[in-house]
Amino acid sequence: MQVFDTKNPRETFLLGRNLAVGLGAGSCIALVGDLGAGKTALVRGLADGLGADVQMVSSPTYVLVQEYPARDTTLFHLDLYRMVDAQGELEELGMEEMLAGGVVVIEWADRACDALPLERIEIVIEITGENTRRFTIKQIRNFVTVHRKEPRKNTNKHELS
Ligand code: ADP
Ligand code: MG
Repeated sequence: MQVFDTKNPRETFLLGRNLAVGLGAGSCIALVGDLGAGKTALVRGLADGLGADVQMVSSPTYVLVQEYPARDTTLFHLDLYRMVDAQGELEELGMEEMLAGGVVVIEWADRACDALPLERIEIVIEITGENTRRFTIKQIRNFVTVHRKEPRKNTNKHELS
């Protein structure tokens, strides 16, 4: 887990730009934070770092997904804010295809927790002051439970009965 504090939108932009290093096809970034937290501001930095046109980045409030061509990849920018059924919409979008083709960044990701990729970078943004924001960054890896083919040998009689 890493924590970063920014003092203005420019610093948030630069944080996003730094985060872009090391991202590529298959990366998913889940953004969590209130309206005005700086999710879109961070996405601008990500876009810049990936070599996409920053001018194209706006809150995709009325389109579920915006696609920005970048240097070696594509940035898919999603916003679940107005989705009535965010989870269902996200499932229909074809996450696997997007991940195969580029980096996926999702605003209001907490609205569709169960439909997010099992492996992702989660960034929680807190508004700590008028111009200050705290970014808490975590690498999430939720493994699917693999069922054993053979039942585990159990010598505990109480559990066997
Ligand atoms: P969100 O997408 O989370 O709703 P935006 O990125 O669209 O938020 O907007 C963030 C707002 O907060 C902008 O108006 C921006 O100027 C302001 N702001 C103030 N301080 C910061 C900061 N440190 N980082 C990012 N945005 C900030
Ligand atoms: Mg936004």
